[in-house]
Amino acid sequence: MRVGIIGAGPSGMAQLRAFESARKLGAEIPDIVCFEKQSDWGGQWNSSWRTGLDAAGEPVHSSMYRHLWSNGPKEVLEFSDYTFDEHFGRPISSFPPREVLFDYIAGRVQKSDVRKYVRFNTVARWVSYNEDSQEFTVTVEDLAAQRTETHVFDKLVVSTGHFSYPNVPAFEGINSFPGEVLHAHDFRGAERFAGKNVLLIGSSYSAEDIGMQAHKMGAKSVTFSYRSAPMGFDWPESAVERPLVTRFEGRTAHFSDGTTGEFDAVILCTGYLHKYPFLPSELSLQSPNLLYPGNLYKGVVWQQNTNLFYLGAQDQYYTFNMFDAQAWFARDVMLGRIELPSPQEREADIQTWLDRQAALTDHDAEADFQTDYLRELIALTDYPEFDLDTVAVLLKQWMKDKEENILGYRDSIHRSVMTGTMATRHHTRWINAMDDSLSRYLNGPSEDMDTGALAALTGDAEQAGARR
Ligand code: FAD
Ligand code: NAP
Repeated sequence: MRVGIIGAGPSGMAQLRAFESARKLGAEIPDIVCFEKQSDWGGQWNSSWRTGLDAAGEPVHSSMYRHLWSNGPKEVLEFSDYTFDEHFGRPISSFPPREVLFDYIAGRVQKSDVRKYVRFNTVARWVSYNEDSQEFTVTVEDLAAQRTETHVFDKLVVSTGHFSYPNVPAFEGINSFPGEVLHAHDFRGAERFAGKNVLLIGSSYSAEDIGMQAHKMGAKSVTFSYRSAPMGFDWPESAVERPLVTRFEGRTAHFSDGTTGEFDAVILCTGYLHKYPFLPSELSLQSPNLLYPGNLYKGVVWQQNTNLFYLGAQDQYYTFNMFDAQAWFARDVMLGRIELPSPQEREADIQTWLDRQAALTDHDAEADFQTDYLRELIALTDYPEFDLDTVAVLLKQWMKDKEENILGYRDSIHRSVMTGTMATRHHTRWINAMDDSLSRYLNGPSEDMDTGALAALTGDAEQAGARR
């Protein structure tokens, strides 16, 4: 059997690890090739300053940025077969920055020697499926050699993520807005918003995090504009929520409640599109960002072609360990260890989840929903079980912590359900942490960065003092 994997982000890495785990236990595993368009793995976590096109002229994949810290506790995403204790050899805090999490996910796959399966700098351009031979033909471009190749597979795993192609709504007058306008995908750091009035359109994680980062870096004011509902956090004094922008006139934004505001910059935090430009429409998932996109049995197997698998296609309360559970499941379907039910039974199963999704009322219910999804998947394979009920409690505690202190929730600490280890408090509170590097995180300083250092970055000592 030949298995193709497109994308070596956390999901694709999980698929490689799943096969490796079976191989170690004596199973015969297929021939595997994983195509990754970037020069390293890690997906979103392999981020750089670049926007637009990367060095090879391909669209930049990652939407992450400087000073991105985990938005959920690491105890929710921990791998059950490779713990933070095992990787770092000591307890760390609950909300590490990007480079620390990159180090963790890379550490697991380095240890399992799966890099050999990955063709880096190789982008999937097109996939076709032959119904008669039941084979996928994948056309890829080796970006370094500038050579096109075709590869044939019996099974195909799509793990290219869905937070890379910006959803960009139109707003009247925005073309003449004289300040900076960008989508969150192209945001790389908020330092330049010091002293500025910033408008963020959207009311989800990107808006919240970029808005609070702008505040941290000294923005004069932060305004969030929501379409459906306000986020409702206890914002700092200089931040406010308004309903949707109806139009721009010069620097002035008009909101649907009749209020107006003058802004220096507009950041569209309006989410991302599921987009798979290498797939024909009959194989391509089309969905908004949902906890349970339709047409995927167990959230993984393409309903009309069970040789096709999607990993990580869901909106995500859980991340790394959910991708694992999916990858273990996909592996066992491919290896014939799990027999798929009839198309009708699969459809009924999908529908049950869609009905349950439609009835979700709040974030707590959503967290329970994804917990149950994960529970069901884990029970089907030999992925090491863990205490999902405790993780669900932790997710709810995290959301409560955010409500209580939007600038301070990342300073709280949690206990690992895998090892029982209590996280340590980070040496620097999030609001004062101005260096998000791995070395600073692990080694440095034992006390908070002082007001002077923060002021040097923001150029405003008084505001810096007030912010602490
Ligand atoms: P991705 O990480 O997107 O990886 C997909 C991979 O596919 C990439 O390496 C890409 O280069 C490759 N690829 C794409 N197209 C092709 C092609 N045609 N050919 C070959 N290769 C291709 N999760 C958390 O748990 N905690 C967080 O704090 C957190 N913060 C986030 C912040 C931002 C701004 C964003 C956008 C996401 C964040 N996430 C966070 C969620 C994040 O998406 C997941 O953690 C994880 O990266 C998803 O893994 P993935 O492998 O499914 O997709
Ligand atoms: P998202 O969760 O899909 O949210 C999209 C937002 O855009 C929603 O608020 C939506 O409003 C709004 N929107 C969409 N179309 C709109 C329109 N036409 N007009 C106005 N608003 C519109 O996307 P996201 O916030 O970018 O988050 C994506 C992923 O990145 C998540 O997994 C998140 O965890 C991750 N992330 C993490 C961090 C971190 O701190 N580590 C930071 C940023 C992002 P409605 O509610 O009305 O639909």
